[in-house]
Amino acid sequence: MSRKPATHRPRKRFGQNFLTDHSVIDRIADAIAASEQDHVVEIGPGQGALTETLAPLKCQLDVIELDRDLVPGLLAAFSIYPHFTLHNADALKFDFNTLGSAGAPLRVVGNLPYNISTPLIFKLLQDAPIIRDMHFMLQLEVVQRLAASPGSKHWGRLGIMAQYLCAVEHLFDVPPEAFNPPPKVQSAIVRLTPWQSSPWPECDQAQLRQVVQASFAQRRKTLRNNLKALIDSADLERLGIDPGARAETLELTQFIDIANAIHAK
Ligand code: SAM
Repeated sequence: MSRKPATHRPRKRFGQNFLTDHSVIDRIADAIAASEQDHVVEIGPGQGALTETLAPLKCQLDVIELDRDLVPGLLAAFSIYPHFTLHNADALKFDFNTLGSAGAPLRVVGNLPYNISTPLIFKLLQDAPIIRDMHFMLQLEVVQRLAASPGSKHWGRLGIMAQYLCAVEHLFDVPPEAFNPPPKVQSAIVRLTPWQSSPWPECDQAQLRQVVQASFAQRRKTLRNNLKALIDSADLERLGIDPGARAETLELTQFIDIANAIHAK
């Protein structure tokens, strides 16, 4: 299908940076590799740059767009597809369980408005049982934090909590020129696949979040200092963790060990 001319003036408050580079659009479509059996949910279809690679695949396709001014154009382009449904709604408030309660697990995709990306990802990860995978365009720095490894400057709350819930793959980077208007930052595509069978020991998620948040409260301080309200140094040592270490050197399993030790008290 040929691209529609850009008739809509991009709105900053909705984070509208429309993808215009076809080689990037094709690369994203290849990474998603959707098929007719899939149930795909696209967040923020905008003017349909990604939608037009998905709709002809005849997969079940639900799109969620907040800007009602974009609705007529999307309906005009895609309502010819019988498996296409448009929701004029805020993805942050949307109940994804209404889509995924029956049938195929959801494949969620989107070139996300950067201001909602983190809350949206965690909202979706809470609904993980009904989600097979997610492919998102995000700010490069957010992807680096999501995919970070222990010891790197990007390792912190976001990556630890995300990796506890899903496999994270930084697929490729996208330059500002691929969009209209070009954003001020570099972007990247990430794939998030909720664990079907988790590689991590079980742990209370709220407890883990509290431990990770406290551990990184002051990055330059030691665990002894950052965690003193939650666990004492002797208990850290019993877990084989140096109380003089900084949080950024700890592996995810060590945060889980700390959370479980606190939870068991
Ligand atoms: N997918 C299109 C593309 O790649 O060209 C548009 C991407 S643009 C970065 C983000 C889109 O998300 C816009 O269409 C915007 O109106 C929409 N949007 C912003 N906030 C939203 C929200 N809370 N829920 C659903 N859509 C939202």
